Amino acid sequence: NADIAMYVAKEVKAGAVVFEPTEHVTAPSRLNVLGDLRRALDTDGELLLHYQPKFTLDGRHIEGLEALLRWRHPERGMVPPAEFIPVAEGTGIILRLTERVLGLALTQMRRWLDTGHPVPVAVNLSTRCLMDDDLPELVATLLAQHGVPARLLRLEVTESAVMGDAARCLDVLQRLHDLGVHLSIDDFGTGYSSMAYLRQLPVDELKIDRSFVMGMTDTQQDAVLVRTAIDLGHNLGLTVVAEGVEGAEHVAALQDLGCDIAQGFHFARPMPSDEIGPLLDRVAILPVPAAGMPTAR
Ligand code: C2E
Ligand code: MG
Ligand code: MG
Ligand code: MG
Repeated sequence: NADIAMYVAKEVKAGAVVFEPTEHVTAPSRLNVLGDLRRALDTDGELLLHYQPKFTLDGRHIEGLEALLRWRHPERGMVPPAEFIPVAEGTGIILRLTERVLGLALTQMRRWLDTGHPVPVAVNLSTRCLMDDDLPELVATLLAQHGVPARLLRLEVTESAVMGDAARCLDVLQRLHDLGVHLSIDDFGTGYSSMAYLRQLPVDELKIDRSFVMGMTDTQQDAVLVRTAIDLGHNLGLTVVAEGVEGAEHVAALQDLGCDIAQGFHFARPMPSDEIGPLLDRVAILPVPAAGMPTAR
């Protein structure tokens, strides 16, 4: 399975072996993954979220958290999202998975609100979800059910997702934005969006893909891309987040370029929800502007 091999190689190259290679020796077939995933959706506790904080570059404030799906498979152990999300995306099961992730995230957000931590949380959306006309209504219903203000929820969509069926995605995004939910462009730099197109999207945050950030201190091309993305984002009034910030040299370079927010192992790894509370007791949360308002900087 090429996808799995690539995922492992990437993690090893980054100097962080997150999942044991032995778990990948017998790559399960696509059918197995789907069957197991259906069962996991009906089982309590197999699917859970880890949360990775995003920091201001000086490390003094948390801007928000990104919810990252984890699958604790009864036989295979922790299965990385790269291994099952693409499979789920090929079928309608991704919609159920997304609904589950939203429910888990909102439940946790309500708990943090109740302990005095109004922390914004970002949930990743697949392309397929943006093609679903019912998504904005589902999000509105879930927000109301959990009693979480829309402005604390952020949805991340990839560039390529939005480029697919632009008119339809734009309508779904606009309705989500109208709810007061914040929107981000994820993995920026890996797709083909034009400036003119980006300008039409009701997003307020751009996340530079970690492949460019990780290469920016070694490779001139990556450095140029990161600088261009930061300038483009700022010219469009967007907050710019660098993903995959692993070293102090990256922090310094990003600070020089005026990047707003950083996410990466240098600051914090994705962690279980019970480790987030103590972190929020120590580090202040950056105030959230209203959706669609350019961030002051
Ligand atoms: P993403 O949305 O770009 O998420 C960031 C990924 O980068 C996460 O991988 C995170 O653990 C990893 N990361 C963060 N900081 C660093 C760093 O400093 N170095 C390195 N090497 N990696 C870092 P993860 O959790 O394995 O997720 C992979 C992808 O799976 C995500 O990429 C996202 O596209 C997808 N995904 C995760 N959860 C969900 C979900 O609930 N729904 C959907 N549709 N996709 C999800
Ligand atoms: Mg993301
Ligand atoms: Mg990303
Ligand atoms: Mg990514």
